[in-house]
Amino acid sequence: MDLLKPDYYDDFSCIADKCTISCCREWKINVDDVTYRKWKAVQPPEDVPGHRSSLQAYTIKKEGSRIMKMTEDHDCPFLAESRLCRLVSAYGDQVLSETCQIFPREIHTFKGHEEAAMMPCCPAVLDIWNKKKNIVFPEIPTEKLKSLFLIRRKLTELLMDTKKSPEEALLESFYILKELHRNAACQDAVFIKIIEDYFSRKTVCQLGSAIREVELPSLDTMDECNEILQDLAVNYRKEELYQKYLDPVIELAEELSEEYDGDEMEEAWEKFRREFAGYQDLIRCFLANEIYSDLLTPEGTLEDAIIHMQWIGMEYAAIRQAVFLSWQKNNCKELDYETVRDYIVVITRMTGYEEADIREYLENSFEELLWDWGYFALITGK
Ligand code: SF4
Repeated sequence: MDLLKPDYYDDFSCIADKCTISCCREWKINVDDVTYRKWKAVQPPEDVPGHRSSLQAYTIKKEGSRIMKMTEDHDCPFLAESRLCRLVSAYGDQVLSETCQIFPREIHTFKGHEEAAMMPCCPAVLDIWNKKKNIVFPEIPTEKLKSLFLIRRKLTELLMDTKKSPEEALLESFYILKELHRNAACQDAVFIKIIEDYFSRKTVCQLGSAIREVELPSLDTMDECNEILQDLAVNYRKEELYQKYLDPVIELAEELSEEYDGDEMEEAWEKFRREFAGYQDLIRCFLANEIYSDLLTPEGTLEDAIIHMQWIGMEYAAIRQAVFLSWQKNNCKELDYETVRDYIVVITRMTGYEEADIREYLENSFEELLWDWGYFALITGK
């Protein structure tokens, strides 16, 4: 089966001991059944602390999954002081679990083809995008005939359009998705024509003008993003994960939930948005890649795609808010690339939910599973 890859895919290599947010720390590392069985007969390397009889003894069951039992410092027990993996040093890559072997790659299998992509929860992936400044996604052989693939292609093109801000592209994308959803019962050929019409230059241009007329008070956006960020961080803070990143910004988020000076905050928000705009190319790559890798699932419907788009919007709202708060904590000094990159890494690790968990989170957190455009616009802002 063909494996289709975006143009940056083969540029990746793990920076291992130079990685500042290693995937071997503060995370849930899955151990698949095949690896778990294989590990019964594998002795841990001698320098692993608390030496046990086999690698199996370093795993636990949590919420139905088998995962690595992390140390008190939230490290994988096989992570050496040199920040290299002791298992790889002793036995080579083949002993690793599937998760560790493929991360940060992900492969999705669709009928007739497979798609590969990279996840943004690895800083080395963001470094590639930051240098490249754009991504070319592979063409799916049947995408002109299959509505969901065609919609995804058009959305990634909208996101990669440098004449629009990422926010404008998101607002237009969500509006079109909702409109297409109203027409989803049409016959295939008619629906393909409707998709082409909605994404035509003329319609997108009219839509962009109409959206620019909509009033979206920036402080309402800031307030709502503040709530979203705090909600997403609750469990991670309980488990004392990512404290270095979350503690300072959540403390400030909590203060802002109490009160702030509206005029001062509006000025700070506008100034921040100008600073943040310096990373638009990176944000475009990030959002387009999220749409490419997460919008569609093998059996998914247009409704599922809308739900995934909401999740991507929420993830972006939380990232931007975290970067804003970190910038404020840093006395509104120049916004550096590492801050933007590290919060993308941390927040996308926090939002890396399974399909069913995304639905459950949205059902529990919002009145309706499918948002109206107004709410999507509120958290996206302009
Ligand atoms: S997060 Fe990425 S660069 Fe860092 S150790 Fe893991 S795979 Fe390597």
